[in-house]
Amino acid sequence: MNLPIAMFHHIADNPHPSLKGWTISINQFNIFLDCITERGYETTTFETINLMNPNASLNKKIIITFDDCPASLFDYVVPELLRRGMKAVFFIPTAQIGGINLWDVEEQGFEAVRLMSADQLKYLSASGMEIGSHGDNHKRPEPNQEASKNETHQSKAILTALLGKQITSFSYPYGQIPKHYPALLKSAGYQFAAGIYTPFQTNLSLRRFGIHESDTKQSMSFKLGHIYRGLRFIGDPLLQLYNLIRV
Ligand SMILES: [Zn+2]
Repeated sequence: MNLPIAMFHHIADNPHPSLKGWTISINQFNIFLDCITERGYETTTFETINLMNPNASLNKKIIITFDDCPASLFDYVVPELLRRGMKAVFFIPTAQIGGINLWDVEEQGFEAVRLMSADQLKYLSASGMEIGSHGDNHKRPEPNQEASKNETHQSKAILTALLGKQITSFSYPYGQIPKHYPALLKSAGYQFAAGIYTPFQTNLSLRRFGIHESDTKQSMSFKLGHIYRGLRFIGDPLLQLYNLIRV
């Protein structure tokens, strides 16, 4: 699938130091939204694409994704996206709906942040946003098939029951794509799955790019284009070759 897919986590002006690496400021987020509008891009979602004719053009389409679903996205980001008539995809680890980022707190000592509630996810879904699975417990990949199934199948069942609709997309926790996952995701009925870096891109192992505080409007604009995706096509296999990405 040939279109830009952006990845965000937290958008806030004064993040806790432990979350700084995963946060961009409101101003930086707005610069990105301005950039995609000025470049003539239109936001779409995986579920929209899934319903389109497979031969339909994705030219000038972009998917904006948020991993983890911090509830603070409701402070600014969600109203701003709605105000601009933009869509986005929100990936929630289902065991923590209305909970916290427990995996980061326990493993890395990060500040605890509240994640979106069931009602907030329902509101987003009813507002034209897409809700996808980010696993159940946001686990690191493991070879155990049954435990993995809980992350893929169980999380999908939870979201289907909550939202009353089919769930189309999955986002790999930590961006790591274990070898056995694409087959598991396919058997669970997902159509799309997003990682970060991946040597071979398929609909179940899609590349995404992050936007950082150090990005300029020019570098953001570059990440939207074909040349950037061409560089990733060449660069991502090299990253694996030099063991810089784990699969
Ligand atoms: Zn995550």
